[in-house]
Amino acid sequence: MIEAPFPTAFPVPDPVGSQVLNQRIAGLTARIDAAALACGRTAGAVTLTAVVKTQARQTLADALSAGLTVFGENRVQEARDHWAGVPGREQLELRLIGPLQTNKALDAVRLFDVIETLDRPALADALAKACAKAGRSPRLLVQVNTGAEPQKAGVLPDDVAALLAHARTLGLRVEGLMCIPPVDEPPERHFTLLAQLAVRHGLTVLSMGMSGDWEAAVGCGATHIRLGTALFGAR
Ligand SMILES: *Cc1c(COP(=O)(O)O)cnc(C)c1O
Repeated sequence: MIEAPFPTAFPVPDPVGSQVLNQRIAGLTARIDAAALACGRTAGAVTLTAVVKTQARQTLADALSAGLTVFGENRVQEARDHWAGVPGREQLELRLIGPLQTNKALDAVRLFDVIETLDRPALADALAKACAKAGRSPRLLVQVNTGAEPQKAGVLPDDVAALLAHARTLGLRVEGLMCIPPVDEPPERHFTLLAQLAVRHGLTVLSMGMSGDWEAAVGCGATHIRLGTALFGAR
């Protein structure tokens, strides 16, 4: 099969350059630690996931030089193109933060350390099968559609318990929850709901907060914030 070189569908943003990127990382890291301390958490309690969707390979290279080690990707194919042959790949953590089709489950299991978008029983089934076949088992987060938006991926809050039970029956390693709040609402209610669901189900990882709302997310207990624009500029 001949695969089209990525990207074909999106323009690739110009790299911000390593100097600007280094400054942004230093500034953000300080602010993230300050936000954690301000709500009684420890500096370093929040992991910065650098979202590199649509970015040029030069931007990835700059991010690696700057010392970033945790990366978020939206699409399996793009992630494969991004990271193929990158030296030191084993030291990095790759996290899938975009929707996953069942027919890409095996590719995703082979590539990612964490898959944040488990949101339906059929995908749990596909992931379990893929893990058995690949002989590896990425950690998983369940994506919750906290705003019950019809167009958005994620399991409804009322269905989280059943999905978790199903995933556990299959032996999947679910360690937390992820959400993307509705764009037109204050996010705190959604972050709080996600945190409450995590406590109820004994889960410790909370992936919530993006460039526009990460401080609120840290205040509500985020362990992982997913930043693209704040690091690399507008896409
Ligand atoms: C693109 C994306 C992000 C990063 O968004 P920014 O606003 O650019 O920080 C975070 N999470 C998910 C799921 C995304 O798709």
